[in-house]
Order: sequence, then structure tokens, then C-alpha cells
Amino acid sequence: APSGRQSYKIALIPGDGIGIEVIQEGKIVLQKLAKKLNTFDLVFEDFEWSSAYYKKNGRYLPDDALTQVKKFNAILFGAVGAPDVPDHISLWGLRLALCQPLQQYANVRPTRILRGTTSPLRNCKVGDLDWVIIRENSEGEYAGHGGTSHAGQSWSVATEVSIFTRHGVERIMRFAFEKARSRPRKKLTVVTKSNAQRNGMVLWDMVASEVARDFPDVEVDKMLVDTMTTRMVLKPEGIDTIVATNLHADILSDLAAALAGSIGIAPTSNLDPTRENPSMFEPIHGSAFDITGKGLANPVATFWTAAEMLRWLGQPAAADLLMLAVENVTENGIKTKDLGGSSNTEEVTKAVCDEIEKVV
Ligand code: ATP
Ligand code: MG
Repeated sequence: APSGRQSYKIALIPGDGIGIEVIQEGKIVLQKLAKKLNTFDLVFEDFEWSSAYYKKNGRYLPDDALTQVKKFNAILFGAVGAPDVPDHISLWGLRLALCQPLQQYANVRPTRILRGTTSPLRNCKVGDLDWVIIRENSEGEYAGHGGTSHAGQSWSVATEVSIFTRHGVERIMRFAFEKARSRPRKKLTVVTKSNAQRNGMVLWDMVASEVARDFPDVEVDKMLVDTMTTRMVLKPEGIDTIVATNLHADILSDLAAALAGSIGIAPTSNLDPTRENPSMFEPIHGSAFDITGKGLANPVATFWTAAEMLRWLGQPAAADLLMLAVENVTENGIKTKDLGGSSNTEEVTKAVCDEIEKVV
């Protein structure tokens, strides 16, 4: 390659069910884009870590999984989960087993209505809903701290302890303020539940006020998570960037994806903002075994995910072109069934590749 030309190594972890299908489509579209642009290179390697791998080996990841993925610039992940494996085993066995040691403490979920798609909200058009949800991704309610006594007995007791550290809260808050500052409206809503959760959420509020002093140009407001759900439905245009805890943001971002049209379009990024480790990019949907192998999987979430990955890698122009191609396709009505269309997975991919040919 000519000197100065960037080459990115991408680890592909397709996982299970439609994860395998959409990652394949994502790879096709990324290869097409890189070839057409001819300004950077992408080198892919596939990892078979999945529920099938788990059933064969008794675990989701080999011992040296982290060493292996650390050699890559980014990880593109499909979905994990199989009907005959309990969800908490697959989730902790693969996804969280990578996210946590790789210090991907910021989970970012952009949400907007793509051209040619509709929101279930009446009167909500393209441009009316344009949010970024920042989810704390390393501690909080999903810290994994807890236990069960007298399991299986009628007197059993289980604890699920939320962990909030000043370090953890401050770094996600700074990340969220930076993100809000980078967007045209420079507006951040800090979501809490400090009326009922009077320790962790009070720390959250306190740190938010402190960090806000370093970002005088960002407009901040605070909102209880329950109020936020109604706000998202009733006044979506008033929201821009949102920061919330692991649990709260998990719920809000599923609501957001549904309000923006379909779970089949929404991407998410698990970022290590220090860039010490590779970040991991994935569509928010699961393995969806009910539609696996039927050509029904919407690959758009993975295309958007791939665009977010390119942006993080330092190729924003390529990311924008990819989204332009994707939205030209949705606007032309080439959509899978979840978006009200009648095209299959491969047809959508083919249309996006054709569009890349035109727009680049
Ligand atoms: P998980 O257990 O991780 O939540 P899941 O297999 O239950 O995964 P979800 O992602 O929760 O699947 O999706 C719920 C339903 O939405 C799926 O069963 C499927 O019918 C539909 N769905 C999900 N993703 C897509 C997609 N990319 N394209 C079309 N339909 C989808
Ligand atoms: Mg599900």
C-alpha cells in the first residue's frame, strides 16, 4: 500500500442466529465501500465464538481471546444467544466477557428516523427525532455484584447490588458532555432516579453538576427516568444527547429504537474512549432465531453499525457515504418486512452496494 494509507484490522464475531447473516452482509458492504473509495484498507478475520462453540467447548471464549482481539483495530459483533442456552450465560460468556476487560465503558446509541422509514409516533418525521443515548457500560446495576442464599427454597434471598464509583461516573459524564458538545444543539439530558435511589443516583447528580462547570457551552437538564420515557414519546424533538446508567439506558435505548422505527435498524458502539483497547460495534438486536435462515433479517442495523465503526476509526467521510447509500435505499422502498417492505436480506445488501457504486 502507498505510504500513509491506513489499513484497519477488523475482528468479525458473527455469533448466533441472524448475527451470522447480518455480519456477512456487513462485510460485503464494507468491502464494496473500501474498494470503491480506495483510500483505506480493511482486513477482516472471522472468529467462530458463538453458542455452537460453547456447546462444543463448554465456554464461549478461548483463554487467549483477549490477546487475540487486542491485535485488531475494532471488533464487529453480530449477536449471541440460542434457544437452548440461558440468556445470562451467553450474555456474560461472550459479550460482557469482552466489553468489561476491554474497558469499553461507554456505550453509544445513535437514534434517528432514516429516510423512507416511519416512526410509530404520529406526526414524527425524519429529523424530528435525533438522539444519542450514552449508556454507562461498566458498572451500575449490571456490575454483576450479588448473590443468592438458600437457592430454590421458599425463603431464598437474592441480592443484585448496583455499584457506582466516582471514577466510573465521572468518566462517562465527561464522555457524554463531550458528545453533546460535538453535536449542533449542544444539549445534554442527565437521567437519574435520585428521588428513589438515594445513594448511587445522588452521586450521579453531584458528578453531573461538577462536570457541567467544565462545559459552560452545553445546555444541561436533569430528568427522572420515568419522566424520560413519557418525554421520549410525547416530546421527542426536545431531546438531543442523553446520559444514563447501565440499566436505565438499556431500557431507554430499546424504547428509542422502537420509536425510531425498528429494532432492525439500530446500531450500538461499545467504546474504550482511551483507545487503549479495540472498541466493539454491534447491531442492538439479538440472534432472533424465529427469523433465522428465512432472508428476513434486516441488515440495515449492521450497515449503520459499520458506519459508526468507520467513524470511530477516523473515516467520517466513508461513514457518511455509507449512510447516504443506506438511506437512499430505504427511501427507494427497498426494505425488509420489519420496515414494511418486501425485500429480503440479500436484496437490501445488493441495493446498498449498487448505491455505493453511484454515490462514491
Ligand atoms: P435477545 O435474546 O438478545 O433479545 P432475540 O433473539 O430475542 O434476542 P431480539 O433482538 O430481542 O431477538 O428481537 C426481537 C424480535 O424482533 C425477533 O424475534 C425478530 O422477530 C425481530 N427482529 C430482531 N432483529 C431483527 C432484524 N435485524 N430484522 C428483522 N427483524 C428483527
Ligand atoms: Mg429478545
